[in-house]
Amino acid sequence: MEIKITKTTTPSVMPAEDKLGFGKVFTDHMFVMDYEEGKGWFDARIVPFGRISLHPASTVLHYGAEIFEGLKAYRRADGGVQLFRPMENIRRMNNSAERMSLPLLDEQDALEILTKFVQLEERFVPKSFGTSLYLRPFMFGNDESLGVHAVKRATFMLIASPSGSYYAEGINPVKIMIESEDVRTVRGGTGYAKCGGNYAASTRAGERASKKGYSQVLWLDGVERKYIEEVGAMNVMFKIDGEIVTPMLTGSILPGITRKSCIEVLKKMGYTVSERLLSVDELVSALESGKLEEAWGCGTAAVVSPIGKLAYGDKEYVVSGGQIGEVTQKLYDTLTGIQWGKLEDTFGWVYKI
Ligand SMILES: *Cc1c(COP(=O)(O)O)cnc(C)c1O
Repeated sequence: MEIKITKTTTPSVMPAEDKLGFGKVFTDHMFVMDYEEGKGWFDARIVPFGRISLHPASTVLHYGAEIFEGLKAYRRADGGVQLFRPMENIRRMNNSAERMSLPLLDEQDALEILTKFVQLEERFVPKSFGTSLYLRPFMFGNDESLGVHAVKRATFMLIASPSGSYYAEGINPVKIMIESEDVRTVRGGTGYAKCGGNYAASTRAGERASKKGYSQVLWLDGVERKYIEEVGAMNVMFKIDGEIVTPMLTGSILPGITRKSCIEVLKKMGYTVSERLLSVDELVSALESGKLEEAWGCGTAAVVSPIGKLAYGDKEYVVSGGQIGEVTQKLYDTLTGIQWGKLEDTFGWVYKI
């Protein structure tokens, strides 16, 4: 595909790698392309990073037609740059687009956009282990009218943010509370889509948890409020009496690429992994009988995030003695090893830029 490139005339200075944080600094450029019904995608361009202008009636501002993805460009130990399973993100973005009546992307074009953009912004891929260039593709409906219908115009963009290590202060297990009031999504809704509205609606529970001293909430399903779904904006896994359990994808759970990768790594290591329903009652009885050996969240940002404490109602339970568990640590070492190019990728997951 043809991408027109207009380079910035005022290149910025890459901040010190230990001062990056997450999602606060952006690279010099952004990718933009437009869509119109009947015409398809057009005007693919890379332009200097900057503000965009929208018609006040744009669909996204009223009806929330917005989807996004999140992936990282990693600096390999040998100095090269690579992505991790980027086609999985592209396919998931198309699944999200389908759910939200937004236009689909051509898979190969999307991969080319990611590749060319990262090549152009290569100097913003930080070098220390754990740091990365976070890539944020997103798409929004852009009809300039208030009618409620599937959009006829849309915009796809890609921005990138050099980001520090999630574990700059070491891996500290987090405190999580089981949420019994708000639900994140429901089956039949948009839980499996990475659409903006899901996150707007879920921050309230996170804020309340934070006021009570917890990092995040453990979500229950929205139909029976009985089955465990996710933790914050991550998938969740447990080791119960030797079995690795993760909630099955019922439609209200986001199909994480880290989740999928953890399952594949664990199976290769010989663990029994079950994708099934896990009720809060089963979880609490495993906590009470001491059979819950480990619990962790998983997602691109953190890779894995060990859970050290779990609260349900007014009871609080300690998991894994408040330490990172053995399986969680093995997953962290294996996935980060492959992502940062320190371990051989026997799965064929990395895509070198
Ligand atoms: C993005 C996301 C995840 C994790 O997906 P990864 O592909 O592993 O990054 C899990 N849950 C929610 C709600 C998410 O938005």
